Amino acid sequence: MNKYKDKVVLVTGASRGIGKAIANKFARQGAFVIGTATTQASADIISKNITADNFTGIGLVLNIADKLSVDEFGNKLKELDAPNILVNNAGITRDNLLMRMKDHEWEEVVNTNLSGMFRVTKLCIRSMMKQRYGRIINISSVVGLSGNSGQSNYSASKAGMLGFTRSLAIEVGSRGITVNAVAPGFISTEMTDELNDEIRDSILNQIPLARLGHPEEIANVVDFLSTDESAYITGQTISVNGGMYMG
Ligand code: NAP
Repeated sequence: MNKYKDKVVLVTGASRGIGKAIANKFARQGAFVIGTATTQASADIISKNITADNFTGIGLVLNIADKLSVDEFGNKLKELDAPNILVNNAGITRDNLLMRMKDHEWEEVVNTNLSGMFRVTKLCIRSMMKQRYGRIINISSVVGLSGNSGQSNYSASKAGMLGFTRSLAIEVGSRGITVNAVAPGFISTEMTDELNDEIRDSILNQIPLARLGHPEEIANVVDFLSTDESAYITGQTISVNGGMYMG
């Protein structure tokens, strides 16, 4: 399918989980996909996965928490066509109750999830403004809306992404660029594999659809937000959470 022919899509954190599903979805539909990982080995696997299926794209190394790494990535990006679609997906958790939370647990999460998104978006925004076209989709989280015990760092970073989304949407709307966020609920990935059975059961009890989501169910919404069909949607947060939080 050639829905994204001539489109270049940058997906951060495309080595596994939700980012991998998003990268695959775009590659299958004809985009040139730039998928990132923090190590060369994982970046090579992304390249292999994409090209093995005769799709087009490349895996590149990027640590969004490290300004130097972002600068180096920016230089590599200049050798490619500029992204028209940016999916800020890379993110981490360092869960702890606030009483016990170490400074580094707070700083790593905010520096990766929130400042990392800022750094990568700055790399892409100028060329989108020139093209007078762009789609930016930020992967936030249900806990950025609802809060969650043990995740004050993570939920603060994910709520911050929503404020950023709305502000940037106002700044760049007149240039044909839309900026939206997707707030996944609990999705079956390595991030949620870490949960013990007790926590998993208590989460399932809070989900009206009584199951975890699949990464592809997030990719489907990112896909929609990247098309012309969604051209009048900007500054919004779309929840994909099985009904877990309806606020
Ligand atoms: P995951 O399986 O843990 O994958 C995280 C991805 O982010 C990996 O590709 C990882 O790359 C990359 N990454 C981590 N730190 C990075 C850094 N400093 N710089 C660049 N890339 C980095 O996570 P996931 O479950 O798919 O989650 C993806 C996004 O959805 C995250 O933003 C997460 O907060 C959000 N989310 C997930 C859920 C869920 O239930 N899974 C729910 C709500 C929101 P490496 O492989 O190189 O480490």
